[in-house]
Amino acid sequence: MNYTHPVKTIAVPVKGTDQLFPVTRIYCVGRNYVAHAQEMGFTGREPPFFFMKPADALVIVADGEVGQMHYPSLTKDFHHEIELVACIGTGGKNIKAADAMKHIYGYAVGLDMTRRDLQGEQKKLGRPWCIGKGFDESAPISHIVPANKVGDIVNADINLTVNGKVTQTSNLKLLIWNMAETIEHLSAAWQLQAGDLIYTGTPEGVAAVVRGDVLVGSVAGVGELKIKVI
Ligand code: MN
Repeated sequence: MNYTHPVKTIAVPVKGTDQLFPVTRIYCVGRNYVAHAQEMGFTGREPPFFFMKPADALVIVADGEVGQMHYPSLTKDFHHEIELVACIGTGGKNIKAADAMKHIYGYAVGLDMTRRDLQGEQKKLGRPWCIGKGFDESAPISHIVPANKVGDIVNADINLTVNGKVTQTSNLKLLIWNMAETIEHLSAAWQLQAGDLIYTGTPEGVAAVVRGDVLVGSVAGVGELKIKVI
């Protein structure tokens, strides 16, 4: 039998250069802002927890362009979650928080798109979240900005508008587990690798979108991510 398919490299461009950042894995942090944890029915500081998306779920959108994502199958409650994405430049195991920030090559603006109804069913049944979180085109992302060009990311504003109306607005300083602590926890469980992306969690204000909606996410110093649901 002749078995062959093309090699597919997933890579995110680095803004303002001709460089590409090849992607290894996509990790996502759950419930990492207090006000979002509360809107999902939880309170207090729980240990960080993680889920993953496949690298080919990325929808890469260049600065100044409006990307497109298809309204996914099986859902009637397709939610946006604006998130800062930390891009790992050098991997490691058991990285301490104090050393963690130097493992970050750069940052991007991302959307952790969620089939909330399916996620909710899986939660109720104690089943994995894959179908709610790790589906096709579930991870829109902007181009990457190197960390040394981003400025004060720890105190950066993060926002999302849908059709020009603000739905999510917060600041990175309100992360429950900051990026350094997240990397410490993640790298205790997995060997982080160059090319890993970490979706760091979403603030409050998650809501459903429908076909035709235009989402504009932004993180101060990193830029914008514009995408239309088709
Ligand atoms: Mn999320």
